[in-house]
This record gives sequence, structure tokens and C-alpha cells, in this order.
Amino acid sequence: QGRNNYQFITPALRESMQMQLALDVGLRGVARRGELVLHYQPQLDLRSGLIIGVEALVRWQHPQLGLVPPSNFIPLAEETGQIEPIGLWVLEQALQQVALWRQAGHARLRVAVNVSARQLQADSFVGEVARALERHHLPSNALELELTEGVAMGDPERMATLLGQLRRIGVAVAIDDFGTGYSSLAYLKQLPLSCLKLDRSFVSDIERDANDAVICSASIQLAHSLGVGVVAEGVETTSQLEFLRHLGCDVVQGYFISRPLSSADCSRFLQEEAAPRRGGPTPPATPR
Ligand code: C2E
Ligand code: MG
Ligand code: MG
Ligand code: MG
Repeated sequence: QGRNNYQFITPALRESMQMQLALDVGLRGVARRGELVLHYQPQLDLRSGLIIGVEALVRWQHPQLGLVPPSNFIPLAEETGQIEPIGLWVLEQALQQVALWRQAGHARLRVAVNVSARQLQADSFVGEVARALERHHLPSNALELELTEGVAMGDPERMATLLGQLRRIGVAVAIDDFGTGYSSLAYLKQLPLSCLKLDRSFVSDIERDANDAVICSASIQLAHSLGVGVVAEGVETTSQLEFLRHLGCDVVQGYFISRPLSSADCSRFLQEEAAPRRGGPTPPATPR
């Protein structure tokens, strides 16, 4: 390892190194080979009770390893630069899908797409986003981009310019995993953000851990006073949902609403959600 450090190559380590190598080699051209799939996780608006959006989450359908979660290949793709073609594929696929759902009657549905730092470094990024929206005849409010705090804290001047450009074409920008990074609030205030996504680590224990509840409450108040909406991630129970509603949270996302779904399953989910609610007039039971 150098620097007077050494480490035994254990079988487990060797296996994990081989795994990394296999993933690295396989990642090249992964989008072109059609091995990526998007799953979609619905977002519930607490005020209207409607599903207002879905977050696109990428998976790699690996020929030998099966479905690989993003945490196992996105960091590697960021290191090697493969994230650029992957990111463009995700954007294209997500917009194509949301255009289909809008045509199917979910007229105001929005899709949230995760973006890595490396993608933003490409000068062509904002242009690519604008062209992709045009290709699918979508208004810019059909798309929201999610950046993690670390990404947003990158180069302040560049970030302000970039977010300004996105705001001008009308694309919303959310800060993902809010609370886990080290954002300076003074700095966040200067960015044209549309939304903060409260990290799931604060949500999971919100009813028992007074500190988590305070962090959620303060973040929601801060966001609202800056004119920014709040999405809570990782909502798994009805009591977490009610707690967040009580704190004034706008939108919730998590297993309690739905796990991330394949596009076919998400189509069914959206159909069922849009159907007349329980408690409404029941259709006549007599067959015609
Ligand atoms: P994220 O953007 O914070 O996405 C939320 C993650 O939390 C997803 O994991 C989702 O499946 C999981 N999750 C949602 N609700 C719950 C819940 O109620 N309980 C629990 N325990 N987990 C929940 P996933 O799909 O494995 O994605 C992990 C991360 O990978 C994402 O975190 C995002 O940072 C990254 N990622 C996913 N797709 C993309 C992509 O297309 N591009 C980039 N750059 N990153 C992506
Ligand atoms: Mg996200
Ligand atoms: Mg998140
Ligand atoms: Mg996360």
C-alpha cells in the first residue's frame, strides 16, 4: 500500500477487487448495450393527496450478476467518466417515459433525475437538457434535477451560473440528501433552488429522536422561508407521514407510498391512484 502501510490480500478482498474490475470493464458502453433500466418511485403531495412526480432511479441489468444497485456502480462510473453517457441515457429514458405517462392522462406528472458532479462539468450540460426536453415535446416543468449537497457546494460561482441557466430554461433543481453534507445555509440561500429533499436518515427515527425531529422541523421552516419546497425521503410508516405533515412538509417519498417500480408497475400504480377514491360514489355493482 506504500507509506509504510500494508494489507493482506484476503480472499474476500481479492474477490471484491475482481468484482470491481468486472464492473469497471462491463460499465464501458453499458448504456449502448441496453443493460440499464430505470425504476420510478412515486412522490405524494400531502396537500392535494395526488402523486405529483416520480424519481428515476437507475439499475444495471448485468448479464451475470443480475440487477446491480446504483450504489455498486455509480461511484465507479463517476471515477471513470462513464457517468456521462450513463447520465445522458437516464435523462433521455426518463423524459421519454414521463412524456408517455403525460399522454396517458397524467398530464402534470414530473420526473426527477439524479445528476452527478461530473455531468455538470461538461459545458454542454444545460444545452443537452434543453434539447432533450424539446425532443420529447415536454415543457421544462416536467423535469426536476437532483443534486447532492456536495455537488451543489462545488465551485460556488460556476454553480450559481449553471443553476441560473437551468432556472432560465425553467428546470427545477432539488438538493438531494439534505442535511448529510456541509452546506452553508448562507450559500444555499443564494442558489435558485426549487426544493430540498430531507435525507432519509432524519426521517427514519423522527418520532423517537428529538434531534432528528428538530432538524426536520428547522429545515422545513428554513426552506419555506426561502420559498423552497420540501420532499421527505424514506417515509416508511403512516406515523412518519403524519409527523411530517404536522411539521408542514410538502411532499413525501418512500416505501410507505411505494417502492421504486418498473415502468410497467409504475403505470399501473399511477392508474390506480388516479382512479376515484375510496369513499367516493361506488359504481353500480349490476353488470350491464
Ligand atoms: P437517492 O437519490 O437519495 O435515492 C433514494 C434512494 O433511497 C433510492 O435507492 C431508493 O430506492 C431508496 N429509498 C426510497 N425510499 C426508501 C425507504 O422508504 N426506505 C429505504 N430504506 N430506502 C428508500 P437506490 O435506488 O438504491 O439509489 C441510491 C442512490 O443512487 C440514489 O440516492 C442516487 O444518489 C443514486 N442514483 C440512482 N440513480 C441515479 C442516476 O440515474 N444518476 C446518478 N448520478 N445517481 C443515481
Ligand atoms: Mg435522488
Ligand atoms: Mg436522496
Ligand atoms: Mg441517497
